[in-house]
Amino acid sequence: MTTTASSPAAPTPAVPSPAVPTSDVPAAQVLADLRRVHAGGRTHERAWRDAQLAGLERLLAEREQEIVAAIAADLGRDGVEAWMGDVASSRAEVLHARRHLRRWMRRRPQAVPLHQQPALAWVQPEPLGVVLVIGPWNYPVYLVLAPLVAALAAGNCAVVKPSELAPVSSALLAELLPQYVDPEAVRVVQGDATTSQDLIASGFDHVLFTGGTEVGRKIMEAAAPTLTPVTLELGGKSPVVVTASADLEVTARRIAWFKLVNSGQTCIAPDYVLVDAGVRDRFVDLLVGAVRDLRRDKAGAGLPIVNDRQLTRLAAYLRSTTGRVALGGGVDEAARTIEPTVVVDPDPEDELMREEIFGPLLPVLTYRTLDEAISFVNARPKPLAFYAFTSSAPDRRRLVREVPAGGTVVNHVGMHSLVPQLPFGGVGASGTGAYHGRWGFDALSHRKAVLSRTTRLDPSFVYPPYSPRAVRLIKRVL
Ligand code: NAD
Repeated sequence: MTTTASSPAAPTPAVPSPAVPTSDVPAAQVLADLRRVHAGGRTHERAWRDAQLAGLERLLAEREQEIVAAIAADLGRDGVEAWMGDVASSRAEVLHARRHLRRWMRRRPQAVPLHQQPALAWVQPEPLGVVLVIGPWNYPVYLVLAPLVAALAAGNCAVVKPSELAPVSSALLAELLPQYVDPEAVRVVQGDATTSQDLIASGFDHVLFTGGTEVGRKIMEAAAPTLTPVTLELGGKSPVVVTASADLEVTARRIAWFKLVNSGQTCIAPDYVLVDAGVRDRFVDLLVGAVRDLRRDKAGAGLPIVNDRQLTRLAAYLRSTTGRVALGGGVDEAARTIEPTVVVDPDPEDELMREEIFGPLLPVLTYRTLDEAISFVNARPKPLAFYAFTSSAPDRRRLVREVPAGGTVVNHVGMHSLVPQLPFGGVGASGTGAYHGRWGFDALSHRKAVLSRTTRLDPSFVYPPYSPRAVRLIKRVL
């Protein structure tokens, strides 16, 4: 059985966007201005790059409260979560880049084959030019600042297009970024899909897009005429497999915690759980208990959902599921909230199991053999993240090896995104390319091949006409 996981926003009809001011400078003009700055050469210098990263570090330290308030206004997210999800995460990327920039920028010497000696060969990271960063609404600051860290560390100019569905954060970025980074080299352009399309059409050197899979397709299509390379950080359903050997209490708590963060509106949130049939009931009890415990100061309250469109979509999944609601299920349209909800054994054909959930609903399904669990996951598009809870080393090895995914975490959820040493990205329908740390620096640099030879040695036998002896020699070394 194959299904497609699409952007959670894809199936619902379009609604007017909240107002964000659209830039009145044409996209082509913005790009031309930045190209001029890039051609001037200052962005190549390490001192310039470090100054931009230092600026971002200061922005995050000095304007933390405003960022947290903007995220609360856009998403209803509480202060600690806004700080963890957008401020601390962005800061970690900045600090890591500052610490390693000198090493990343170094030429990378390579061995030279005999037929090219004497010579030096190296790979020289070179800025691409002007990079376009398009962000989603769910982590409206982090998901534009982390790509921006990569773009600036790599010596590029950048245009940032935040999501129009997080208008307060978008406006804040437009106000703050020019105060903390080189305003001639970084521009914030606010707007919606049309703005993104106009920007892409003007022909950047790279587009780093974060958003839904369906929109990702449109980005790639829009980038094709100008042969603009793209990094697509997309979505999809990220499964969790819980084997009978897992520590069920810790497993339930970790899954519940990460699913509740940002009301489940996280690209790497656990989307559904496949649990061994022998421990299913105990696991569900522990999961329900863990959610109640984590919400004990807000008992009975729902979780905020970003807009009516998303609320309607999630409510429809709940109405149409054939599964048993073991916890929650309440939808409050007026308050725009949904209770944390656990749905046991829905039909795999339910909408809840066909589309990316991107909200506080967690289906729990049962498997009998590990083969069955692996086949279930692999019959669907390759996930952005895959989580395996087990204390069996053979099961862990099988799950890591046999489930293709953007990233895999054993015995936790989502934490790989906080390790800047690891590449972050999807595979197949969950994305193409990766960033974070050195991986982001490399994604937004051209790795230029340089071969430097000497003219001191120039034997005549390598040039035609070739004597039989010369041919024998050439054949031996080539
Ligand atoms: P989205 O794809 O609707 O929008 C993302 C951005 O694309 C916005 O800035 C929007 O203005 C722009 N956009 C929308 N339609 C466009 C079009 N036709 N042409 C050009 N640009 C367009 O995504 P969203 O609703 O903001 O975010 C939710 C999705 O993003 C989920 O699927 C989630 O899994 C995914 N996501 C992925 C990651 C990741 O790192 N892989 C992170 C967060 C969210």
